[in-house]
Amino acid sequence: MTLTEKILARSAGKSHVQPGDNIWVQADVLMTHDVCGPGTIGVFKREFGAAAKVWDRKKIVIIPDHYIFTSDSRSNRNVDILREFVREQDIPYFYDVIDDPDGKWVFDSGKGNLARQYGSNYAGVCHTALPQKGHTRPGEVLFGTDSHTCMAGAFNLFATGIGNTDAGFVMGTGKLLIKVPETMHFRLEGALKPGVMAKDIILHAIGEIGFDGATYRAMQFDGPGVQSLSMDDRMTIANMAIEAGGKNGIFEFDEQTRAFVDRRCQQNGTKSSYDPVSRDADEKFVYESILDLDQLEPTVACHPDPGQRKKAKELGHIKLDRAYVGSCTGGKTTDFLEFARILRGKSVVIDTFGVPAPPEIVQDLQTIRWGDNTVWEILTGAGVQMTENAGCAACLGGPVDTFGRMNTPLKCISATNRNFPGRMGHKESQVFLASPATVAASALTGRITDPRDYLC
Ligand code: SF4
Repeated sequence: MTLTEKILARSAGKSHVQPGDNIWVQADVLMTHDVCGPGTIGVFKREFGAAAKVWDRKKIVIIPDHYIFTSDSRSNRNVDILREFVREQDIPYFYDVIDDPDGKWVFDSGKGNLARQYGSNYAGVCHTALPQKGHTRPGEVLFGTDSHTCMAGAFNLFATGIGNTDAGFVMGTGKLLIKVPETMHFRLEGALKPGVMAKDIILHAIGEIGFDGATYRAMQFDGPGVQSLSMDDRMTIANMAIEAGGKNGIFEFDEQTRAFVDRRCQQNGTKSSYDPVSRDADEKFVYESILDLDQLEPTVACHPDPGQRKKAKELGHIKLDRAYVGSCTGGKTTDFLEFARILRGKSVVIDTFGVPAPPEIVQDLQTIRWGDNTVWEILTGAGVQMTENAGCAACLGGPVDTFGRMNTPLKCISATNRNFPGRMGHKESQVFLASPATVAASALTGRITDPRDYLC
């Protein structure tokens, strides 16, 4: 069996499964956020009763992160609905925007978008918060009401996005009927060259198979090339499995995974035992590909979908209005470090926005020093508008006052993960997906630019 089949078989209490089998899978974690949480809660209450209790309060993780830093009152209200439900159900893992359990969330637009407006429990984007807060344990099944839930596959989980109706059912029963997906195999060999990042690997892979090339399939990433990839890198790759239509993305377990997971579970006091899955000799794949990391170049997915692959060096004719670094895919510490490495001592020539995914990264960037300056100071000194309000921000547009949202038809190069029309705001805007290094180089020239032109 493949890694995905092994996890699903175990979770269903079976010794063997094969693609196409319909099986009842037991959830280890159900995650929801402010956009889908209220709807999920509504389904749960409608189907199980107003006084019903969730199947396991310690297996539900609630992370407001999407439409947070906005004056839109309905968005603010969504966070309050989550808080009321958490109180009613006594759910321990709720990463609220405010510290007062009886309070109401109101964004203070008078303070502006840049200065911090969250309390001590806020955890930022759900997919980076889950591993940081110790909720991604190898070998487990994680369902989330968000399509990029597949990001947790970096930690050797079966992790997939589900809709509110399914999530309401999981909330009440802990189970879900799943069709076992076929597995596509991506063997990584070699190591990335300077200026090339994990984002380039996944943009390359999606370009190869198309934005629907993995529809309802698992994407398994393994091979010797994985050793040189950090957990941040693996998260970037697993995150975008859904951009090829994948059911999930999954990596092998190794010592790096163990070190990350053990440290985070210990730090947060979450369940620390887990049972990873490893590869079998008899895995059957529906597709096989070898990705030679040495050969990869800075890659861009052009408007209007993540499968429109081109090399950055071929796109110098595309003039840009905006650059954006952030999101679960491109807003991690290592993403910002590569972004800053290119921008250091220089100035951007187009509007450039930086949105850390979790608050912890704000702290990292404001304490890591390169010479006399913090990385945060290097970025703001280069002209980047950096917000301390970690979250999804303009990755999916959001209300009109969302930081970085494209309210007019602009061309933007972005380290995010999705570029279908309207994704970041205006429906006639165009988004070009790229690595943080390519975004940085492009912000310096105002045109899509190969970051290798700026390596020191
Ligand atoms: S950062 Fe973007 S892709 Fe990630 S969860 Fe938020 S909206 Fe979705």
